[in-house]
Amino acid sequence: MRTTYVAGNWKMNMDREGTVALVKELVAQLKNCKNKVMIAPPFVYLDLVSQLVKGTNILLGAQNCAATDNGAHTGEISVAMLKDLGVQVVILGHSERRYEFGECDELINMKVTRALAAGLDVIICIGELLAQREVGRAEKVCERQLNSALMGVSKEQLSHVTIAYEPVWAIGTGKTATPEDAQQIHSYARKVIAKMYDQEAADNIIIQYGGSMNVKNYKELLAQSDVDGGLIGGASLKAETFIPICNG
Ligand code: PEP
Repeated sequence: MRTTYVAGNWKMNMDREGTVALVKELVAQLKNCKNKVMIAPPFVYLDLVSQLVKGTNILLGAQNCAATDNGAHTGEISVAMLKDLGVQVVILGHSERRYEFGECDELINMKVTRALAAGLDVIICIGELLAQREVGRAEKVCERQLNSALMGVSKEQLSHVTIAYEPVWAIGTGKTATPEDAQQIHSYARKVIAKMYDQEAADNIIIQYGGSMNVKNYKELLAQSDVDGGLIGGASLKAETFIPICNG
């Protein structure tokens, strides 16, 4: 039986005051939540949020990490620094990193292996562009991204990996994949994991859906047999839109 896992990706949003208010509300209102919940604030608020979620059931996530160790890499944040702040999870391969910042499959794999080796959990985002879906390549794109991101990741390490299927055309656009579209790719991704590892690994891996998930559509999406949670952008910025999804 897989746990339902809901993660909030704040992206480049919020300020100090809003961060404190939102996290305090989440801590108070989610203290009896039966599902796994993570929030990923911007790097600059990680230390603050770390102190607010310490000892609670809310996990602390980062939105990215460097592919290298500490050193002369201006503007980068290493996994050692994230761990130092109490970060437990890092989101990697997000489509905004892939397409806005040119992150390729190889770089994402370097980050995944480095984060796992350092003892962080990772959420690996995969997903096709609209043009790729329209020519029937959605499954193949996701398969390539999975094969590449997981290169060199052992079966033991895979228990620290969550996959987030995020069709790029659905992120921040208000367009959601239908529950059936999501189920189809989630089930395919599970088959890819079975091929790469084994059936046990495929049965155990958590696959979140991401792409305009909100209070109106989360129930139908989470009802799909291979949809194990959500990676939430816009709706994670307010307690009233995030908490219902967390409670599943
Ligand atoms: C995301 O950033 O991963 C995401 C799914 O964003 P949104 O929910 O805003 O579409």
